[in-house]
Amino acid sequence: MTPDELAREIERIQASFDEVAKGRGRGWRDKADPLTLEYEDYRRTKLWKGISASVLSRDKGMCMRCGGKADLVHHMDYSDPVMLGKANENLVSLCEGCHEVIHFDSIGNKRSQAEWGNVLSDMSFNEKPPKVDLRLTVSKPAVWKRLTALQKKEWSLEFARRKYPDHYRKAFGDEGQDA
Ligand SMILES: [Zn+2]
Ligand SMILES: [Zn+2]
Repeated sequence: MTPDELAREIERIQASFDEVAKGRGRGWRDKADPLTLEYEDYRRTKLWKGISASVLSRDKGMCMRCGGKADLVHHMDYSDPVMLGKANENLVSLCEGCHEVIHFDSIGNKRSQAEWGNVLSDMSFNEKPPKVDLRLTVSKPAVWKRLTALQKKEWSLEFARRKYPDHYRKAFGDEGQDA
């Protein structure tokens, strides 16, 4: 064991003592009052897992902004009823790209909660997907994380169509090929 590994091991053991000292055995998060938990701990509770699963199923697994595949559930507010699963109408399924655009503007500044509603209903906040450029060695453009699920899909198909035309033709037929 190197000194670094030893230090990490000691840290791990101390952390587990701390958990026990606070009465935190297995599943302590589920027994705690959800409204007093740190957000990171709250997100690991069975309560939140149940709430988010039911919101995703209500939204049929679709991003409520772009209509693509949803990746997560976003809080329109963090009021007690929402956190307790009694106001699921304030929770919305989103893809990662739409979620990023709702929380941050194009230069990375955090948007205020008051802006979220606007961004949710207006796709003009989105970046245009970049042109597919086969000379680039990286296959994903820099604005990738801000693209909607549908934009990502379109970009990937176009990339595949041009980079791997034979595979693409096999998968999709001749349709969509350059004449
Ligand atoms: Zn989306
Ligand atoms: Zn969010």
